[in-house]
Amino acid sequence: MLLKEIKHVFHKELDQRYGSDEVDHFFYHFIEHYLGLPKFHLALQPEWIITKEEEGVFFRGLSALKQGQPLQYVLGITSFMDLPIKVNNNVLIPRPETEELVRAIIEDYKDFSTALRVLDIGTGSGCIALSLSKYLPMAIVKGIDLSPGALKTARENARLNELDVEFVESDIRTMNLPEESYDIIVSNPPYVLDMEKSAMEEHVKEAEPSMALFVPDDTPLVFYKYIVSEARKALVKGGAIYLEINQRFGNEVSNLLEDHKFESIELSKDLYGRDRFVKAINTKKQNIKQK
Ligand code: GLN
Repeated sequence: MLLKEIKHVFHKELDQRYGSDEVDHFFYHFIEHYLGLPKFHLALQPEWIITKEEEGVFFRGLSALKQGQPLQYVLGITSFMDLPIKVNNNVLIPRPETEELVRAIIEDYKDFSTALRVLDIGTGSGCIALSLSKYLPMAIVKGIDLSPGALKTARENARLNELDVEFVESDIRTMNLPEESYDIIVSNPPYVLDMEKSAMEEHVKEAEPSMALFVPDDTPLVFYKYIVSEARKALVKGGAIYLEINQRFGNEVSNLLEDHKFESIELSKDLYGRDRFVKAINTKKQNIKQK
């Protein structure tokens, strides 16, 4: 079959749902990913023929897109901080906002020359942990998650990127971190309210793991409470916590950190101008026994 004929089928089947430009974008990704050809290949070789086998791959992908699977899940891979990251329905598709979180940490620590112990709580695909390990070579990074499917994917991503990051099964709600064992704790926990679900795109709601996204409307900070109190204990003096948050709760998360005696609390916005990140320092050495 001619590649351009398949492109025609893609448009016929998908334009109504996604719009023609988006379908072109899907198709170019397919050409690059499955044929290993540059995306403009079809323009150069309009009569390019693909094999029966390749045809099968394109049509299977088409039907997944038609069912509403996001492109990243269909291809099984995406990119985060220029690292290839495998993704599937067990993990969230990394978001551009989260790259900003990682960039802020790298910026703060790039000149450090001593070993840095880093923990990523609720690591999912491992994208945060792995990119920190890549760009902060002195960091010893560990990622935890409660989902075995996510951990499997995170470990595959460590192998794919040849990075030495340890991924361990642990639940935020029951984790018991050793005292003063980390210099940096980072987390992008579930923070989308159940009531915000209706405003989300269908493919996000249906394809992505809801346990990684949603929290009940009446306990929006449930994960932050566990994370902040463990971080207070597990960070060394001068250690830092970095959190991605729901834009509605910048003040609440800042207050929570203040209640736990964190200092230098900074709330910052994402590329869309929404309150998205909070960072704080564990300035005072804590005295757990005197409490
Ligand atoms: N930023 C993601 C979204 O809006 C949510 C990530 C999360 O819940 N931690 O879909």
